[in-house]
Amino acid sequence: MPIRRKINRPVEAIYIHIPFCQHICDYCDFPKLQYFRIFADKYLASLKKEIESYNVPDTIKTIYVGGGTPTALEDDLFLELLKIIKPYNNKVEEYTFEANPESLSLEKLQLMKEYGVNRISLGVQTTNDDVLKKIGRKHTFKDVKTAILNARKVGFDNLNVDLIIGLPEVEKEQFQKDLANVVSLGVDHISCYSLTVHPNTAFFLKGINEPKEELSRELYDYAEQFLKENGFVHYEISNWAKPGKESKHNLTYWKDEHYYGFGMGAAGYIEDIRYTNTKSISKYNSGKYRDEEEQVDRKDDMLYYLMLNLRTNRGIEFSDYLYRFGINFLQVHQETISRLVNQGLLVLTEDRIYPTYDGMMVLDQLIMELSE
Ligand code: SF4
Repeated sequence: MPIRRKINRPVEAIYIHIPFCQHICDYCDFPKLQYFRIFADKYLASLKKEIESYNVPDTIKTIYVGGGTPTALEDDLFLELLKIIKPYNNKVEEYTFEANPESLSLEKLQLMKEYGVNRISLGVQTTNDDVLKKIGRKHTFKDVKTAILNARKVGFDNLNVDLIIGLPEVEKEQFQKDLANVVSLGVDHISCYSLTVHPNTAFFLKGINEPKEELSRELYDYAEQFLKENGFVHYEISNWAKPGKESKHNLTYWKDEHYYGFGMGAAGYIEDIRYTNTKSISKYNSGKYRDEEEQVDRKDDMLYYLMLNLRTNRGIEFSDYLYRFGINFLQVHQETISRLVNQGLLVLTEDRIYPTYDGMMVLDQLIMELSE
């Protein structure tokens, strides 16, 4: 059987980073900066040039515009961004924009609808207004409700909300409320990420701690049970979706496929090179895009493949592994797989292995044992 090389497969995904925010949140470690029109104007011109320098093929199926806060752009610049992307979204199945609730206006929703955007991802984090204020967010839960209502009115039927697990003062009771609140709004997809305190953030300087492992696990356990009862499928460690509403774009990453990353600080994976763009706006605006590159050889690729695919409920499909690496995964790891199945961490079917919920919670152990 010929070994498949990703380099020969059409690239189907684009990530575009818009680094501007109207305000900076206390926990944020993303590449971002305060919005100033003068920077944004130049940035869009440079972004257009970067995208055009790649000769993007006509095979793109998903586009994800993240940030920063894409909706922080003023309406005319927001429209310009949609126009820059337009040549690439002819055949897309999923086209997502990240938004903050306070800046997701009806005008922007209508523009997005007109330009083919079909999924919105809202940064909610918690539904407790006092906590939102303390962590430097500028929206309230009322803004979230209005944003979701408006998005539905304009015709968006695929909405994600992000929540953070382990924010200060968000213990079990508040987290339960957060989940109940967002589920009651009828969202289609929920991402719950555990708080990480990065150096150089206000959280770090204030000495705020990451949640203890037991609390994190308790909250994930609750999310798992509550969201299942409410019709969501836990399809990736931190992501739950109504059936059919799994993020196609993010699945590109988790299947370890190639994708373009455009914009300041964006990461991409093209022609077996993983790259990260510069996080300096002045460098980016002067056309010096790439900062770091890593040539992924076959051994690295096998490890990435394991690390990424095991995050999901699809797991590792034996025929795909054989096609990609020319190796019978089941045969090579038979003993380890049987042991992990007996420990309740993996499920083995005719064509694949995939992690149980408990397995997802100890992903590092699974990766270590299956990569030996
Ligand atoms: S809005 Fe998002 S990207 Fe901007 S500072 Fe807050 S968390 Fe970071």
